[in-house]
Amino acid sequence: MKRAVLLSLATLALSACTLVPQASGGQPAASNSSTTSGNRSTAGAPAVRSNNQLPMVRNNADNQCLAQLGQAGARFEALPDRYFDQGCSTLGTVQMHALSSDNGSLELRNLGPVTCPVSTAFAAWARFGVDRAAQQIFGQRVATIQTMGSYACRNVAGSSRRSAHASADAIDIAGFVLEDGTRISVSDGWNGNSREREFLRVVQRSACRRFDTVLGPDYNAAHRDHFHLEGVIDGNSYCR
Ligand SMILES: [Zn+2]
Repeated sequence: MKRAVLLSLATLALSACTLVPQASGGQPAASNSSTTSGNRSTAGAPAVRSNNQLPMVRNNADNQCLAQLGQAGARFEALPDRYFDQGCSTLGTVQMHALSSDNGSLELRNLGPVTCPVSTAFAAWARFGVDRAAQQIFGQRVATIQTMGSYACRNVAGSSRRSAHASADAIDIAGFVLEDGTRISVSDGWNGNSREREFLRVVQRSACRRFDTVLGPDYNAAHRDHFHLEGVIDGNSYCR
């Protein structure tokens, strides 16, 4: 009896914990910091289990977003919130494995944690912006979107400002593989043949209707080989 009470107390203590890594590169350790829980914990909200041992408590906005991503046909798992050194974090993120397009599955490469709202915008862009453009321009669907990752604890190149990648709120796109294996990379295709050039410009423009900031090869040399998609559009997009 006493043992059962102790166990449930331990479970309660764990539910209040937030994952905080001890040092960069180390394994996350449980911490009882109440400030790091922030407003992401809502009493009574359903707990979402991931492959991590600690339960996650998500608020209604999070749950709605996860439901929306599921309805879009994405294959994903919700990830536990984590805080890292130097003000970096992955809060309310998911690991996307594949997306749905009109006629099949869209595979994703090299993608790490991405915030749920950006993931939802990405799923819609992949289907309606990317795959349909490929069907129109190349007559075939996109099989894979190759990314250069999402979360990275770093600053904007050449500045002291934290990048949106430091909070998993941005995705870098390197290229696209069509059903027949043809690869259209941003680095080669931007100034490639006419269909490649058209396709990449169409998908960038459609990204500008869904994401807050979209940067590509025309912006600066740091983006010559990828599209940077950041945040969900709220008003006008910064599109370069
Ligand atoms: Zn980027």
